[in-house]
Amino acid sequence: MDVKKILWPTDFSSTSQKALPHIKSLTQQSGAEIHVLYVIEDLAHHDGWYGAFEEKRVRELMEHARKTATKRLSQICEKYLEGCPLYIKHVAVGDPAREILQAIDRERVDLVVMTSHGEKGNFRFGSVTEKVLKHSPVPVTVIPVDPPR
Ligand code: ATP
Ligand code: MN
Repeated sequence: MDVKKILWPTDFSSTSQKALPHIKSLTQQSGAEIHVLYVIEDLAHHDGWYGAFEEKRVRELMEHARKTATKRLSQICEKYLEGCPLYIKHVAVGDPAREILQAIDRERVDLVVMTSHGEKGNFRFGSVTEKVLKHSPVPVTVIPVDPPR
């Protein structure tokens, strides 16, 4: 398989970062680009309580989240992916699984690498990983991570 683009979605948890060694060795072998994606979970569909706040404040909050996320993605790049010049950052807003699946199509990703669960870790298999694995049109490598406790 000719792997040119790898997508690594991250929720910024230390668990999700356990996919990094695998991604690193893959890119060293293949010279593939790493696309990193963080999805800000959308507040706008929570109409019930969203309506209680000024629309402008919510927009500001989302804008702040986007800036912070971009900064954190850059930090991960510097800290863990040095020597990987082909590193492309994406921040999206919405449902994580839906946005990950859209990014696979839009960026013409060849392979997705993600961990079995993320920041919540209530179950062995997280709901985002489950949805991506079930619906992805391209191969998905799931790195197994033990849940806490
Ligand atoms: P839950 O289903 O309760 O959220 P969880 O947080 O343990 O459980 P997931 O959310 O499925 O598990 O996280 C597993 C992986 O999914 C993460 O390591 C990451 O790759 C991806 N992921 C989850 N949330 C996001 C997000 N907001 N942005 C980008 N990737 C995400
Ligand atoms: Mn989660």
